[in-house]
Amino acid sequence: MGEIRFVVVGRSVPKVRMTQKSYWKLAAKLCLEYQQLVAYSLLKATTAQERAAFFVGQKYFRIDLFIYLAAVINTHYTCPFCKRTWKAKPTKKFVVCPGCKAKSSVTYDLPLRRGDKDNYEKSIFDGIQHAVNDIFNDKQVLSGYSEIIATHEVERVEVVITPYVLRIEK
Ligand SMILES: [Zn+2]
Repeated sequence: MGEIRFVVVGRSVPKVRMTQKSYWKLAAKLCLEYQQLVAYSLLKATTAQERAAFFVGQKYFRIDLFIYLAAVINTHYTCPFCKRTWKAKPTKKFVVCPGCKAKSSVTYDLPLRRGDKDNYEKSIFDGIQHAVNDIFNDKQVLSGYSEIIATHEVERVEVVITPYVLRIEK
């Protein structure tokens, strides 16, 4: 098998560091539950035979992650015509400038409360390690592309794991 692909459905939970003690217990629990979901998603997408054929004997991997977070409608707008700024009700397909009455399309952004890209990566790698603990370690991941994308569809992470050959600079 040339690659392993699977999807983890649901909002990705970034790996957290112990900073505030009261918050830590719940955050760590949610993070662990998410890693179990990642593991389950990988196990469901592949057979034990396929995983063994892919991971055993392979030294290094590349992992690409497409992290889809819910697109959040913007509430603050600046009119492109009269430059007035205002706060709009975030339910309409378009917004109307309260000054010159010009219509503009609503715009979207990522959720304000979200994790760092590298912490999303860490929780996915940990989840993969949960699933195939004896044949994969995240130190074997030498390369990979990851991107956070705003979506109007279901929140999810698409994972692509491919074998990787160590590059040696000459
Ligand atoms: Zn205007």
